[in-house]
Amino acid sequence: QLVQPGLEEEMIPTPCYIDADYSGSEKLKDKVAIITGGDSGIGRAVAVHFAVEAADVAVVYLDEHEDAQKTRQLVESYGRHCLLIPGDVSDERFCQQAVRETLQQFGKLDIVVNNAAQQYPQTSIMEISQRQLEHTFRINIFSMFYLVKAALPHLPKKSHIINTASVTAYRGSPELLDYSATKGAVVSFTRSLSKQLVHKDIYVNAVAPGPVWTPLIPASFDEQKVSEFGLQVPLKRPAQPSEIAPAYVFLAGQSSSYMTGQVIHPNGGEIING
Ligand code: NAD
Repeated sequence: QLVQPGLEEEMIPTPCYIDADYSGSEKLKDKVAIITGGDSGIGRAVAVHFAVEAADVAVVYLDEHEDAQKTRQLVESYGRHCLLIPGDVSDERFCQQAVRETLQQFGKLDIVVNNAAQQYPQTSIMEISQRQLEHTFRINIFSMFYLVKAALPHLPKKSHIINTASVTAYRGSPELLDYSATKGAVVSFTRSLSKQLVHKDIYVNAVAPGPVWTPLIPASFDEQKVSEFGLQVPLKRPAQPSEIAPAYVFLAGQSSSYMTGQVIHPNGGEIING
């Protein structure tokens, strides 16, 4: 059970990557997915849910993180293969290499999940340096262009591109100006790309989570913000990653065959306009 993070160490919950009662029905049988940021948080939950649904996964992650082995263990515990590809998605050549390695290992690629992102809270626009701006846009949005460009020549008909946006794209965030701007860009990128790829029978959709309890949160905010995290939404708590991942399973499978250019909003009940 999720406990709202308090100031005491033992009150801070461990993110839950899969619910005990979630069982797959091979919705993604023998599909191959590449998932950026799949070592941690939402990306790890997506990797594990895909494995439960009988897909193999390539997990792309920033090499300074050490959690990738845990994702691999979890994926393998469901009898599926997990390829770990450390590197920086803001580097186009690395994205090309990640796709090459995935194809070498698995022989095909069916699902691209653009999920890696970073955020650097600030109190004023005056604090944002040129370097930070470029960094945030490179990781959060340029990377999506790079990975899609690398993957597209290899994607078969009925394949899926799924991008992680955020509720901040819609309701804004005073302390995450650059981050929320990149998430707005993710939404319009998703809509535009879906129209461009419709003739190839490739589906492009996004997920825009609300507050999710992942390692990104305590790493980004001070104790006060962490203790209030998620309380503002109607459900009055942050989600666990395991509550977000099923939206990706739906978008990656046949059940979403009449959806492209859309955004799913697992956000604790916030009403979204636009
Ligand atoms: P997380 O920090 O747990 O995971 C993000 C992962 O992205 C990192 O572990 C890292 O490996 C990877 N990454 C970061 N920079 C990278 C780079 N340059 N190259 C390669 N990999 C890189 O965070 P999370 O909360 O699971 O976030 C996942 C996605 O969900 C992000 O797009 C985030 O913006 C989005 N999101 C999160 C929340 C939330 O409340 N946690 C809400 C809405 C949207």
